[in-house]
Amino acid sequence: MGFVSLGCPKNLVDSEVMMGLLDRGGARLTSRPEEAEILVVNTCSFIDTAKQESVDTILEMARYKTEGHAKKLIVAGCLVERYRDEIRKSIPEVDAVVGTGELESILEAAGIARPISTASPFNILTATSEIRSGQESLSGTHKASGHDFSRAVQTPGNNEASAPDVNGSGSINNHLGSTQEASGHDFSRAENISKRAGASASEIVFRPEGDLRERQGRFSREDWDGAAHLLPTYLYTEDTPRLISTGRTSAYIKIAEGCDHPCTFCVIPNLRGKFRSRRFESVIAEAQRLVASGVQEITLIGQDTTCYGEDLGLKDGLATLLDALARIEGLRWLRFLYAYPNRITGKLLETIARHDNICKYLDVPLQHASPDVLKRMKRGAGADIFLKTVEKVRAAVPGIALRTSFIVGFPGESQTDFETLEQFITAAKFDWLGVFNYSDEEGSKAHALDSKLHKRTIESRKRRLMKLQQKISKQAKQQWVGRELVILAEGESSETELLWEGRTEFHAPEIDGKVFINDFGDLANLEAGKFYRAEITEAHDYDLVARITSGPL
Ligand code: SF4
Repeated sequence: MGFVSLGCPKNLVDSEVMMGLLDRGGARLTSRPEEAEILVVNTCSFIDTAKQESVDTILEMARYKTEGHAKKLIVAGCLVERYRDEIRKSIPEVDAVVGTGELESILEAAGIARPISTASPFNILTATSEIRSGQESLSGTHKASGHDFSRAVQTPGNNEASAPDVNGSGSINNHLGSTQEASGHDFSRAENISKRAGASASEIVFRPEGDLRERQGRFSREDWDGAAHLLPTYLYTEDTPRLISTGRTSAYIKIAEGCDHPCTFCVIPNLRGKFRSRRFESVIAEAQRLVASGVQEITLIGQDTTCYGEDLGLKDGLATLLDALARIEGLRWLRFLYAYPNRITGKLLETIARHDNICKYLDVPLQHASPDVLKRMKRGAGADIFLKTVEKVRAAVPGIALRTSFIVGFPGESQTDFETLEQFITAAKFDWLGVFNYSDEEGSKAHALDSKLHKRTIESRKRRLMKLQQKISKQAKQQWVGRELVILAEGESSETELLWEGRTEFHAPEIDGKVFINDFGDLANLEAGKFYRAEITEAHDYDLVARITSGPL
C-alpha cells in the first residue's frame, strides 16, 4: 500500500493513524507507488492552491492503476469533506473515499479486516528504514513527472493555506505504503454516514460556544453540493495505532480537533467540525509511550490548542497539560501550535517560562492588525492590543521566539488598513512570519462580502510584507551570532551534501528557517536525531550557520 499525505501536521497525524490501522491490519507499506496495490491520498482543502495540489496528486496516483499494480485508489481527508460526491463522479478511478471523521474506515475502504491486537500502538518509521530509501527513489520518479515527492514542507500558519510564505514554502508530502490484496470492498457513502453518526458523537461533549455557533449556522455545509451533512466527530485515542513518520526523535500529538471560532475567511470548522479535546489522560498516555519509544521532541497540535480542555470543563487546560507533559522524564523539547491571541493567559506563559523543556516558542496567527479588517474577519482586537500581547509574552518569557501569520487582501482591505499592518509588523519584530494571500472560499462568510481586491493588488501587498520581514529577520538573526545553543541535528542538507541541517528550540519542525551545520568541531560525524551544542557563526535572511562545540547530549 502506498500513502501520500498532503497539507498540515494535523493532516499528517490523520495519515499516521490511518497507516497505523492499516499496518496493524497486516498491510505492507511501500513508498514506491508503482509497486503498491492500494494507493491512499490524504488530501488538503483549505484554499484553492491546496485543493489543486490534492486533485493533481489524485490524478497522478490514478495513473498507477493503468501503469502500475494499483487495484484500488482511496481518497481521504478534507477534500472528501468538501467534495465527497464530486470526487466519485469526476474521478472514476477513485474506488473509495474516507472523510476526516472516518479514519478507522480506511480498513473497510482498503478491504482489510479490523485487527484484534494488543501490541503497542506506536511504530516509528526511521530515516534509515526501507521506507526512507523508497521515498528517495519515489522522489526521483516524480522529478521526471514534475511533482516533487521529497519532503518539501511548509507552514500553513494557523491552518489556512499552502501558499508560499515569507520563510519558505511547500507542503508536507509523505509517501509511504504497503502491498496487500484489496478485497474489492466498496466503501459507500451511506455506510460512511451511518458509521460516523453511530461512532463517537454520543461520547463527546462540545463547548457551549460550539453548540451556539452550530445553531447560528457556523458549520453549515448547505452551500456545498455533494458534501455529507454530518460533521466529523472523530478523535483518536492513546490506543489507536499510529505509524510515526517523523523519525525516531520527533512526533506530533493532536490534542484537539475542529474549531468553534467564527473567523469569516475560514472553512476549517465546516470541514473539521466543532472543537473537541482529547481526554487529558489519553494525551499523557500517548506522550509517555512516545517518549518510552525514544521520542524526545513532542509538538502538540490542534486548530487552536489554547482552547484545549474547555469542553472537558478544565480551566487553563493547555497550561495544565503542558505542566504534566513537561514532567515526563526524557522529553527534551515540548511545544504547541497554534495559539489564539486572546487566550494567551498569564498561567500559560508562566508554565512556558517555568519548564526548561518547554520550548521558548509561540506561534500565534494574528491574521491582520487593522481593527476594521479584524472586525470583518470576526476576530476582533487590533494593532494596539496585539502589541500589548507581544510585550506581555516577551516580558513573561524572555528570549521567546514569536511566529505569526497574516492574510493580505481580505475583502475591503484599504491602503490605510494595509499600512496599519505594515507599521505593526515593523513595531512587533516577529522572529518568524508567514503571509498568505486571501483565498475566497465558497462556504466562508467572507465569500459573500463586497469589495474584493484584485489579485495583482493582493500579490503586490504580499511582496511588500515579505520584503519588510526579510529586513527585520536579517537584523534579528544577526543577534544570534556568537550564541551557543542546543541543536537537533536532522541530517544531511537537502541542498548540498557538504552541510547538515538542524533546528534549535526556536525553530518548529519543518516550519521556520534552518540551521546549517558546516563545522562538526572535534566530531568525525553527526548522527541524525541527536542533540548537540553548537555556536551560531553566521546569520542570513532566515537561516543560520553553526559549528558543533560538543555532543551528542
Ligand atoms: S481560529 Fe479561525 S482561522 Fe483558525 S481554524 Fe478556527 S476559524 Fe479557522
